Amino acid sequence: MTHSPPPVPGSRWRALLRGDCPRCRRAPIFRALLTMNEKCPSCGIAFDREPGYFTGAMYISYALAVPIAATVALATSFVFPAWSFEMTIAAAFSVVALLSPLLFRYSRILWIHFDRYVDP
Ligand SMILES: [Zn+2]
Repeated sequence: MTHSPPPVPGSRWRALLRGDCPRCRRAPIFRALLTMNEKCPSCGIAFDREPGYFTGAMYISYALAVPIAATVALATSFVFPAWSFEMTIAAAFSVVALLSPLLFRYSRILWIHFDRYVDP
């Protein structure tokens, strides 16, 4: 077991928003927009715990994307009432597609934090 410094106190939400390690809260989970560190550069925990680990992140990604798509579709139908249903849905999917790198990133960050919270 690797020895790690104590986590930065009172900063769980800050670490979540910044995408920092859920254990030490001192180092980022991602080293680039879409590239994760395999282990925490500060405390050494493995972010990918087992094969298929990020299946849970897919559910979180879905839970984030559906309200965004619904909000865009609703807003589009109010702002552009002449648009067809298909154009409204296309606009909603386009916004979700543009946000997909952020959805990928934050769904994994949320999943890792949730998983480490319930099963440290
Ligand atoms: Zn760490």
